[in-house]
Amino acid sequence: MLEALDKVAPGIYSKHTLLYGVEVKFYSMRLKLTNNLETQIKNLFAAGDGAGVTRGLAQASVSGVIIAREIINRMR
Ligand SMILES: Cc1cc2nc3c(=O)[nH]c(=O)nc-3n(C[C@H](O)[C@H](O)[C@H](O)COP(=O)(O)OP(=O)(O)OC[C@H]3O[C@@H](n4cnc5c(N)ncnc54)[C@H](O)[C@@H]3O)c2cc1C
Repeated sequence: MLEALDKVAPGIYSKHTLLYGVEVKFYSMRLKLTNNLETQIKNLFAAGDGAGVTRGLAQASVSGVIIAREIINRMR
């Protein structure tokens, strides 16, 4: 692809070329959540992409940690 692109934009096919791409994501679902990621149903939490609160591995993982900490606090 870079070879073909080089014909349109000469010089792009070089070992110094860095490629940047735009990633567009659409999320239709977003639950109403508290800061602790609790839903409007008491003691029901939602984490990760399914809840519409994250868009990546690290964020999804952290959302689970937030919920786990809150559950531990409530059990004390
Ligand atoms: C092609 C692609 C590339 C990506 N690349 C990156 C990347 O480079 N870096 C990055 O940070 N993020 C990337 N992401 C995003 C990342 O994968 C997600 O943000 C992350 O996996 C969300 O984690 P999650 O636990 O919320 O959901 P998921 O990882 O989707 O986990 C949900 C789990 O629930 C299970 N499940 C669904 N329905 C049910 C059901 N009814 N009963 C039981 N289990 C069910 C699914 O099988 C799945 O295992 C990428 C995503 C895609 C699709």
